[in-house]
Amino acid sequence: QAEEGGGIVRISVIGTGYLGATHAACMAELGFEVIGVDIDPAKIERLARGELPFHEPGLAELIVKHVESGRLRFTTDYAEVGGWADVHFIGVGTPQRSGEHAADMRYVDAALTSLAESISKDALIVGKSTVPVGTADRLAGLLAQLRAANGLPGTVELAWNPEFLREGFAVKDTLTPDRIVVGVASEHAEQVLREVYAAPLAADTPWIATDFPTAELVKVAANAFLATKISFINAFSEITEAVGGDIRTLADAIGHDARIGRRFLNAGVGFGGGCLPKDIRALQARAAELGLTSTMRFLSEMDAINLRRRERVVDLAVDVLAADAGHRRAAPVQALQGARIAILGVAFKPDSDDVRDSPALDVANRLYTLGADTAVYDPEANANAAARFPRLDYVDSVEEALRDADLAILLTEWREFRELDPARVAELMATPRLIDGRNVLDRDAWAAAGVPVVGMGQKVVH
Ligand code: NAD
Repeated sequence: QAEEGGGIVRISVIGTGYLGATHAACMAELGFEVIGVDIDPAKIERLARGELPFHEPGLAELIVKHVESGRLRFTTDYAEVGGWADVHFIGVGTPQRSGEHAADMRYVDAALTSLAESISKDALIVGKSTVPVGTADRLAGLLAQLRAANGLPGTVELAWNPEFLREGFAVKDTLTPDRIVVGVASEHAEQVLREVYAAPLAADTPWIATDFPTAELVKVAANAFLATKISFINAFSEITEAVGGDIRTLADAIGHDARIGRRFLNAGVGFGGGCLPKDIRALQARAAELGLTSTMRFLSEMDAINLRRRERVVDLAVDVLAADAGHRRAAPVQALQGARIAILGVAFKPDSDDVRDSPALDVANRLYTLGADTAVYDPEANANAAARFPRLDYVDSVEEALRDADLAILLTEWREFRELDPARVAELMATPRLIDGRNVLDRDAWAAAGVPVVGMGQKVVH
């Protein structure tokens, strides 16, 4: 449809991380000519060879396909795209600022500035990064100023098009999204984006064209809602842990109410990753900047509930191992000293190698710090985890992790772990027992095979 449209053929994608690399490959798949731009030369070299620097199902194949077809190229040079592309997507990072809740906007600002100073033809810049509300208005002002000052040819406009892809499903979510939201300041900008998204539009994907602040807020509101849903069920976990009851049955039962819905009501070790935690913190910081300090305060409670889940897993491990030593009230360090703990999973979610703010990796590191001998295995994330916490003992298979372990803790619900044979696990471990940090195992079946399992939201009687 690139040829059928009104002439949008060339697209640049600035930032080639999880979002940008996926977007670039998917735009090529939709028929456009695409150049991905990044300031990290090592990343660009690998991508240009058709190698994906991170794990995402189906994406490596798509990149190879379009590097080979010639529709997808990569560069570190903005000049290469400035006189070439009709549409420039910005997908650079907006991480949490060190020591603060607010988002670090320096990468987005730098990308916008580099584009404004290199574009030399009519073009649309489309922000995809998740940003504090008000950013697009501010950047539109900056863009106008920079263009007036540098006097380059071409009219350049800004739009905002938040991204909702989920890691692990990034290709599918990009090619067939649930909805497309665009913040636009002109009919022309909307028209250009309709051409870019002609394929999903033809498949009846809901199209929401709105103003800048609404588009920016849709993204952070969606993430705040999802984080709240997870923390909501985890708050009830704290109650069932205190008085008994089955958190999974509770979630199933309330989930049958269509107004509530069952998804994202899984009690467990909580949310993490490069988005939800920093996005709810940035939203609180932005609300406070706007003088609305109380408005998003509930999110700090959601954050606290979420972080308490990590402590809960550590406490459970300490209790189990302290009971062995015959002194339940032992200091954690005594209880964990020399205990071998198999850590199953360190990615923040399955089908991803992302360990940014991963609850699993946080728990593993806390246990190590308290003196445990941690044997860590993740099907994809060992290398990223080792780059952050090199002192943990990373092993190459789940069997190796479990062998001679005094306790196993399932922290990322990879299929490989969900499908473990409990009888085999019982054979491998020194003392067969497991903490299910994601509530994905059939506790009765595991107990029958000789591996007692403690889950999240479960009252534990010592
Ligand atoms: P990332 O850290 O994986 O990638 C960011 C990339 O931008 C890096 O490769 C970095 O080198 C590059 N970069 C930084 N400054 C640059 C510049 N001036 N010019 C060119 N490249 C530059 O981050 P990500 O996970 O892809 O997230 C990017 C944005 O997308 C964030 O705002 C995030 O909140 C949002 N988002 C991410 C996801 C997700 O699942 N990862 C989903 C939706 C939205």
